Amino acid sequence: MKTGSVVPVFFIYICKLMQHSDILNKGLEKTRKGLFSRLARAVTGRSRVDDQVLDQLEEALIASDVGVDTTLRIIDRIEERVRRDKYVNTEELNLYLREEIEALLLENKATNQVMPFDFSKKPFVILVVGVNGVGKTTTIGKLAAQLKAAGLKVMLGAADTFRAAAIEQLTIWSERSGAPIVKQAMGSDPAAVAYDSLASAISRDMDVLLIDTAGRLHNKVNLMNELSKIRKVLQKLIPDAPHEVLLVLDGSTGQNAYQQASEFSKATDVTALAVTKLDGTAKGGVVIGISDMLQIPVKFIGLGEGIDDLQVFDKKAFVATLFE
Ligand code: GDP
Ligand code: GDP
Ligand code: MG
Repeated sequence: MKTGSVVPVFFIYICKLMQHSDILNKGLEKTRKGLFSRLARAVTGRSRVDDQVLDQLEEALIASDVGVDTTLRIIDRIEERVRRDKYVNTEELNLYLREEIEALLLENKATNQVMPFDFSKKPFVILVVGVNGVGKTTTIGKLAAQLKAAGLKVMLGAADTFRAAAIEQLTIWSERSGAPIVKQAMGSDPAAVAYDSLASAISRDMDVLLIDTAGRLHNKVNLMNELSKIRKVLQKLIPDAPHEVLLVLDGSTGQNAYQQASEFSKATDVTALAVTKLDGTAKGGVVIGISDMLQIPVKFIGLGEGIDDLQVFDKKAFVATLFE
């Protein structure tokens, strides 16, 4: 077994691989258009930024699902700036907005890293959780393919045993990415699959293990029990596993995403977020709200169904692309 960190060399490569400005650009098209048409409406017929423009701006941000609290914080900052600079032209509003949003997000230092994961443990175990349909399996598939392409040995654990289709879907991603899969029959114990997958990852000298889970549990107690059980069996093999718990959120559900983040955080120790389906929505502003309000970093964003459409989330690049 290799000692120490597998990765430093891969780091840069992975990040490069996962940050394509054209994919970001295209994936945020709907949000950008929505935001800009609302901003254009906010300043129609006004030459300077006044209270009425600020009210309209507030509405535009809320309509883009930035979230009320974050919107108010942004408006406060713009107000402050207008007061300082006295006369602010409405033509400058986009620039101010972009600068203030970026500054606001960067103030949340807990979530400032650009690196996805440090992969310093081997195998590096990532437990992927989230409500049914948000994009967990797809995110795992894309991640597996990209990490494989970067030269890491990746394994998949099919611990969503609730539907046969879930196991089949992960199997397809296994074939597509070349990452071996550990699975059992539908209905088997998810914790048993998780255990088997980690045992296999260790014996096959894998760098990364991605474990898929079901999001169907009907209440928080069930969810908590199942996730605790998975955690417990993993820790029999590696005491500090899982090294990351990645919560996947569907960006097109807007406010629901915030709610899910809070529910899952109560059920288990979530360490990272992925926000998916941003390509299909004009409500991509939700990522701004989540990055501002939560102490858990958004590490990935999903911008489509293809392998390359999972991108590392970078605050600056995200805001810049939104206002391009
Ligand atoms: P799971 O139930 O959480 O495992 O969700 P799945 O991975 O099965 O995804 C549910 C659906 O969302 C599938 O049809 C995926 O192709 C689709 N999906 C996932 N991520 C994205 C994304 O970033 N963009 C788009 N457009 N579709 C996505
Ligand atoms: P429904 O048919 O989808 O409404 O599910 P049920 O409520 O009939 O669930 C049947 C059994 O499966 C119950 O014992 C649930 O606790 C269990 N169950 C529900 N969701 C999940 C899941 O995501 N994973 C696992 N392992 N069991 C689940
Ligand atoms: Mg799934």
